[in-house]
Amino acid sequence: MNVIEVNNLVKKYNGITAVNDVSFAVQKGSIFGMLGPNGAGKSTTIECIIGLKKRDNGEVRILGLDPKLDNRKLYDMIGVQLQETSYQDKIKVYELCELFESMYENPLDYKSLLERFGLIEKSKSYVSQLSGGQRQKIAIILALISNPKIIFLDELTTGLDPKSRREMWECVKELRNEGRTIFMTTHYMEEAAYLCDQICIIDEGKIATIDTIDGVIEHA
Ligand code: ADP
Ligand code: ADP
Repeated sequence: MNVIEVNNLVKKYNGITAVNDVSFAVQKGSIFGMLGPNGAGKSTTIECIIGLKKRDNGEVRILGLDPKLDNRKLYDMIGVQLQETSYQDKIKVYELCELFESMYENPLDYKSLLERFGLIEKSKSYVSQLSGGQRQKIAIILALISNPKIIFLDELTTGLDPKSRREMWECVKELRNEGRTIFMTTHYMEEAAYLCDQICIIDEGKIATIDTIDGVIEHA
């Protein structure tokens, strides 16, 4: 069963095409990775799929819903970590978690999430005082508070050291093992190879290949 379906997605910025006729489907319970260099159109694709940006053409369905029309309904079912979301304001970890908790009807208990990610002792720290890896974990925790079926992760490990990156990889696998579906972007081939059931290679807004890692290597 496909939980995300994208057909002929087109997005232009001031007449310049950033995402060009992109189509793919994501199977329930899988990790789907979009791999491509900076500027390829990965973030734009995520933002169009979740309805954060208006698409110029094409169809998107998440769990059968169109994010253009069913925005509110969808937001209870998906979790999103966008790139370099910055919380520069003076907000503490627990305050940020409570803010997110208040947005959902049936939120997960954020304290157990903080515990699970080894951040419970940072509850009262300012987000701005955390390391890059810890902030990325907070980003995942915030994405999980709604107890989503589908999680969107945009370059989750960019800028992390190898150890933190490995930890994030295990987190992502765990989320999949809990039965969640993951849509992730990355520009690291080894990350896509390690994590993803399906890899979609995108360059200059166009999809070059969609295959398993074995298929991708065979066609390279
Ligand atoms: P990425 O690391 O995914 O390539 P960018 O650094 O391109 O992200 O983009 C960061 C932010 O700047 C995004 O919100 C994006 O929409 C915006 N942005 C990127 N490129 C441009 C551009 N050429 N003109 C205006 N805004 C841009
Ligand atoms: P990626 O996430 O793969 O790095 P993006 O989706 O951020 O790629 O960007 C795709 C293209 O769209 C790039 O050429 C980028 O400069 C451009 N772009 C992104 N956001 C904006 C924006 N807000 N305004 C204008 N151009 C943008």
